Amino acid sequence: MSFFATIESFDNYDFDHFFSQVDADQVRRALDKDTLNEQDFLTLLSPAGASLLEPMARKAHQLTVQYFGRTIQLFIPLYISNYCNNECVYCGFNRRHGIKRRKLTLEQIEAEARAISATGMQHLLLLTGEATDITPMDYLEDAVRLLKNYFASVAIEMFPMEEEQYQRLKTAGVDGLTLYQEIYDRHRYAELHKAGRKTDYQFRLDAPERGARAGFRMVNIGALMGLGEVRREAFFSGLHARYLSDKYLQTDISISLPRFNPAEGDYTPRHHADDKTFVQFLTALRCFLPRAGITVSTRESADFRNHLIRLGATRFSAGSCTGVGGYAEMEENDTPQFEITDRRTVAQVVQAIKDHGYQPVYKDWDWIE
Ligand code: SF4
Repeated sequence: MSFFATIESFDNYDFDHFFSQVDADQVRRALDKDTLNEQDFLTLLSPAGASLLEPMARKAHQLTVQYFGRTIQLFIPLYISNYCNNECVYCGFNRRHGIKRRKLTLEQIEAEARAISATGMQHLLLLTGEATDITPMDYLEDAVRLLKNYFASVAIEMFPMEEEQYQRLKTAGVDGLTLYQEIYDRHRYAELHKAGRKTDYQFRLDAPERGARAGFRMVNIGALMGLGEVRREAFFSGLHARYLSDKYLQTDISISLPRFNPAEGDYTPRHHADDKTFVQFLTALRCFLPRAGITVSTRESADFRNHLIRLGATRFSAGSCTGVGGYAEMEENDTPQFEITDRRTVAQVVQAIKDHGYQPVYKDWDWIE
């Protein structure tokens, strides 16, 4: 059994017809429920839901405080290689782009770790492109073992792996996995991922399950907003998160709604979720999944992230760099994977969280040997 069966079950579903007949009363009724089913969730995501943002925001806030308190957990990304054998048309690291390629040595990784820990950050997200000939498993394991000396938590955002590979990284010290499907519409997926192992839609779709089975304590999923029709993508992201939460009770499932930002290659997305729509999706997700973490990255602006503190977000990246290294050193001509928008330092993000009456959490977990 795979989430793929759920995706297939909606193959002939007429989303446009459903959205066209939803009215404000139906949105209110869905919002009044303690437990929302799939149809209630889709109702909150509908265009009619946009007219009830205030009650949705109130409920999202109340549920978030109930399950998470007034806290925002912090993490920081570290890219250790931008080699990649895939051709994702929207990504700066696409193998066809003539960018400068680089892979950090263990000494360089340690220098980055020192620079990051000086900011106080304790939860690290480790990233690479997909080029297993250049960044093989033993390199990744060595990097993780080294980084565990500096951080309470090391999560990964890499290419999808087999369960046995995830187990090796867990043994080395990885405790969390972020893996975005990018786009749940599998026909459009094929158009956007032109070559390399990433062309395998279902292998990617099932990777969060393999990570949960391998024993990661946290699995974070989502879709890159802009690649597909945004309401459907938000819907399938939420269904995927609920599927994983129901099946892997020992794993904390969290979700992100990363919005497309420009990257090398100048890809223009077909779709867009404006700020109001983004808030609608985020608050709908909170009502559908009261206990799921919701991550908002520095793709979003400082002002907008400040607003989201009270609307259901529970995890922020801060002080981020999306090029290789970048904390201890960034080489001239280094190209980021995508442009970030919130360029505040860690200290500035922490202050903003406190100014909103919330507690910034540098560390909520530790590895027990
Ligand atoms: S999105 Fe990931 S897999 Fe695709 S080109 Fe970029 S780094 Fe490679």
